[in-house]
Amino acid sequence: MSDILTTCPYCGVGCGIRASAATEGPEQTPTVRGDSSHPANFGRLCVKGSALGQTLSAEGRLLQPQLNGADCDWPTAINAVAQGLQQTIAEHGPGAVAMYLSGQLLTEDYYVANKLMKGFIGSAHVDTNSRLCMASTVAGHKRAFGADVVPGCYDDIEQARLFVLVGANMAWNHPVLFGRIQAVLQANPEAKLVVIDPRRSASCEAAQLHLKLRPGSDVLLFNGLLSFLAEQGKLDHRFINLHTDGFARALASAQLQAATVEQVAIGCDLPSEQVLQFYRWFAAEALSLTLFSQGVNQAVDGTDKVNAIINCHLASGRIGKPGCGPFSLTGQPNAMGGREVGGLANQLAAHIDYSDKAQQALVGRFWQAPRLVTRPGYKAVELFDAIARGEIKALWVMATNPLVSMPQADKVKAALAGCPLVIVSDIYQHTDTLDVAGIKLPALGWGEKDGTVTNSERRISRQRALSPPPGQAKADWQIICEVAKAMGFDQGFNFSNAAEIFAEHAALSGYQNSGERAFNISVLAQLSAEQYHQLAPIQWPVTDTRPQGTARLFADGKFFTANGRAQFIAVHQRAFNEAAPATPLWLNSGRLRDQWHSMTRTGEVASLMQHRPEPFVSLHPADAALYGISEGELVQLSNASGRLLLRVDISDNQRPGELFIPMHWSAQFASRARADVLFAADTDPISGQPALKLSQVALRRFTPKWQALLLTKQPLTALQLQLFNQHYLARVPLADCQSYRLGLTEALGPQQLLQQLQLTPTLSCRDSQQDQQGLQSQLTGYRAAAIEDNQLQWLLLAGTELAAADQVWLNRQFIAPLSVDSRRQLLSAQAGQGKTLDNSALICSCFNVRSQAICRAINNGADSTAKLGKQLQCGTNCGSCLPELSALLLQQKALTRQQTLTQQKSEELSDVSN
Ligand code: SF4
Repeated sequence: MSDILTTCPYCGVGCGIRASAATEGPEQTPTVRGDSSHPANFGRLCVKGSALGQTLSAEGRLLQPQLNGADCDWPTAINAVAQGLQQTIAEHGPGAVAMYLSGQLLTEDYYVANKLMKGFIGSAHVDTNSRLCMASTVAGHKRAFGADVVPGCYDDIEQARLFVLVGANMAWNHPVLFGRIQAVLQANPEAKLVVIDPRRSASCEAAQLHLKLRPGSDVLLFNGLLSFLAEQGKLDHRFINLHTDGFARALASAQLQAATVEQVAIGCDLPSEQVLQFYRWFAAEALSLTLFSQGVNQAVDGTDKVNAIINCHLASGRIGKPGCGPFSLTGQPNAMGGREVGGLANQLAAHIDYSDKAQQALVGRFWQAPRLVTRPGYKAVELFDAIARGEIKALWVMATNPLVSMPQADKVKAALAGCPLVIVSDIYQHTDTLDVAGIKLPALGWGEKDGTVTNSERRISRQRALSPPPGQAKADWQIICEVAKAMGFDQGFNFSNAAEIFAEHAALSGYQNSGERAFNISVLAQLSAEQYHQLAPIQWPVTDTRPQGTARLFADGKFFTANGRAQFIAVHQRAFNEAAPATPLWLNSGRLRDQWHSMTRTGEVASLMQHRPEPFVSLHPADAALYGISEGELVQLSNASGRLLLRVDISDNQRPGELFIPMHWSAQFASRARADVLFAADTDPISGQPALKLSQVALRRFTPKWQALLLTKQPLTALQLQLFNQHYLARVPLADCQSYRLGLTEALGPQQLLQQLQLTPTLSCRDSQQDQQGLQSQLTGYRAAAIEDNQLQWLLLAGTELAAADQVWLNRQFIAPLSVDSRRQLLSAQAGQGKTLDNSALICSCFNVRSQAICRAINNGADSTAKLGKQLQCGTNCGSCLPELSALLLQQKALTRQQTLTQQKSEELSDVSN
């Protein structure tokens, strides 16, 4: 069987994948490798993409529809959805119905969902999790260009010589694209990377300059750059005069707060030499590319930040030309596809919004829509607020997990608990959101679905099925169309495959579009089913004049505004808040290298979980000293919205007074680590995007009486997990069992724990010591296990500290009958006494290489990533760990230098005293 070409379902880079379908045997999973012909990645994949084959198991999948907790067949489920929606509309009007979609959906799914709601049901309340990652960029693009358009393409990377990374840890979040930047830096000594980020991220390892600025001061920094360009005579007056409006106002606004480098340096809390260095490099290098992501978008002034960046590119004429431009990095695989379709509450369809009545009518005609909406609907935060106050009474969530990702996630949970009709389409049996749904619909996942996605450079690529649908799972578009038909909308939803939907979507993009709408792929409306099946990656617009697609826009200086000119936007830096005494620390959130969103897929891959197995908070050493906290302790973070329990990671990557937590952990993986619980629902007033990068929290030590490691063959049930609501729990799936790292308060000792979990040991041992008076013996350690039919069922290791355990060896004991030796060694949690365990951080997930082994190799003379790769293989497959290898090399070199200096000093002192 020949390979199948498809696209990675994780980040917005949109890497092409060459996969072999499973051919023989139930155990065989498809092999996955990079597609060397795909222009996004030319064969490379990062660690997440490389592990995709391991996510294709049927384990944990939702395979049958469920109604109120009981399995049912599809006709019953479809009727329940259709009748539930119809009844809600009859009793409360169409505005009582909402959909919450996802950048994980394929464009075809998005298209029919949007059409059903906005044209047939008559509700504009269709929003998407892209509101949480891209909405400010959409708003910024529309203000500046008149359309939501990324001007450039990935090929600009190879042509650029200055890369400015703003609020984007590309090394972890867009790794393959970052690899292309690193290649340029290595091949061109004059090329430079500047990283603008309040914390030192992995991307900084390749940077010539890191501006560790005050959180939220980006507008000031870029206003300062605009002032500097003007002052230094580096403006492109010809471009400004011919192709833009509003320059004078934008410059005056910039100069008001950021006329001098010193003003900027003070406001941004940066050394003025660093600010000046950045400005000089930008002014001098025409081939400058500014790439930005969530650190820019997820802010109360995210749209202004986007426009502050775009202003500098318009002022220097660096747009629409090779090797330069503002470049928004989309977070999700199909955030862009959702935007094309109009799947945001403030858009109607196909890049048509609600401001132009004639364009709206055009959509109504094209769809022959009985109930076309005429006003914007609720954006994500407003939507869940409307549910909380009972205005929206029926919600259909597809392929996303708002109980983890929305700000004030506990409030969202309460809102959904009170919503009369919650329908969730998902691929897994349990997600935080699915667990509160009345109707659960099994959808197809990656490797089963068929359709298109669009990446950050407007490139439409096919996702193709590698295997048949599991159980009774169906494509999202199919489920939506069946519901539509059950509601009586046969005419608009009689699609028999994804190709037909794509053709209609493409036709709408070109319908009465004589160039005023940027999104136009009308040429693709003519594709036959076979041509659609074979469709090669292509960048929109795809029109009669550009049938091969369009790499770069605005080369002619024409924009999509009413007068064809780009718009400068006058933006101001907002006043910086002071931290309140009760919550004196600033909290930032972000993503990790090996995880994706709420971990439903990546969290179940044992090797990916080993990079950062537990939810953590990073804090500066000065703060750790201030709070008297040591590395690896547990702490509580809290504010008025909620409380988290996390493991401490002390790191001078942080600025003092500022914390970082990863956004991935859900209730399926930890008792109290849903990051977004702690973020207020403050939004950008223009884009409606929540500020998920800045919150205020209080920190205090969480001192458990017991720390325990529990390994079980079967995962704990939801009921069992409730036991840990007030304790620390982190689930870390291993290859053949589940491991739980526990921090238990006095109220739950190890033996009570086993009782409550109804686990009966077949072997156990206790450690105890006399109390201070020597009167009573106190339990200090407890180890127990259960063996049935010579098979290990579970193992508990409890003590005052987390037990050292050889988890690789322990994992093996769950799959083979126990030998006599293994039985004997079980409670000591390792084979062979005195063996040195390496439980240090896993750096290379591909070859299972940990930091301890890497540091040992460095100390033994491996002084480059190449030498480390040769010795240990680390970094030689996907390369995602290369920035961390570089960081370890630097760290070890600094340590050695420090040790040498200390030794020299002590020798000098001893000479003096002699
Ligand atoms: Fe997938 Fe990694 Fe490529 Fe992103 S960079 S699309 S996660 S392989």
